Amino acid sequence: MITDLQRGDFFQKGHRYRRKQIHKLYKGQEQSEISTPKAHPYIFIFTKESGSEYGTGHGWNRDKTSFFYTGEGQRGSMQLIKGNKALREHFQSGKAVYLFHYVEPGVVEFVDEVTYINHQLEIMWDSDGELREAIIFELERNPVIEEKAAKLDVSPYSTEQLRHIALGEEKKTSVYEQTAALKQYVHKRAAGICEACGESAPFIAKDGSSFLQMYYLSKLSESGLAKPKDAAALCPNCYSRLRYGKDSEVYKEELITKINEKEAGKKNE
Ligand SMILES: [Zn+2]
Repeated sequence: MITDLQRGDFFQKGHRYRRKQIHKLYKGQEQSEISTPKAHPYIFIFTKESGSEYGTGHGWNRDKTSFFYTGEGQRGSMQLIKGNKALREHFQSGKAVYLFHYVEPGVVEFVDEVTYINHQLEIMWDSDGELREAIIFELERNPVIEEKAAKLDVSPYSTEQLRHIALGEEKKTSVYEQTAALKQYVHKRAAGICEACGESAPFIAKDGSSFLQMYYLSKLSESGLAKPKDAAALCPNCYSRLRYGKDSEVYKEELITKINEKEAGKKNE
């Protein structure tokens, strides 16, 4: 069964989509493996690699938490340009990466939202049968990153430090620390008040914190890393309104303005 995709719909893991429909909604290169729509903060990867046909080091790792993805470029050594560069810098440029796997011509299955962890160069054959340097990206599933992040204690950091870590401005921070810092920072920024409607959090969670839900303003999924300006802490009503409300687009625009104002203030502090 192929899922009919509407603009703004979250991609569902394991669901199948027509590649054409994804491009109809978001544009981006229709032939490339790495598609980088200009007007949207998304990067789509459409891979035929499953892992087994490439032997070790490519495709999924053993527990399917990381995908080793061979970058773009059919001939000669691969370079960190175009799609490869976009992938390398997706967090810095505020883009989320959605990984799809081909199931048949024109039809792709959504695997997960993934985050760039690392890349390495490897000598491989190109399509002309020449040896060349290929770029192998390590992309980790966002829910796995979140699990690891949840185990980290970022409570000793001040709000300002958390913001720097979340922005990746501190040297040598891992994506796990960044993810943990982002969550903590956004909750501190909200200070128990929903960042959309301004009402107090409806209850206190078991861990003693005010219950607010993380909402990503720039994603088609709900996990992982984002810039502080692209995340908000919301009461359950506002969260659901943004996901399912008839006026979700307008409400989201209003929220983006509010968060941008808050973040603009931070820069001057
Ligand atoms: Zn609210």
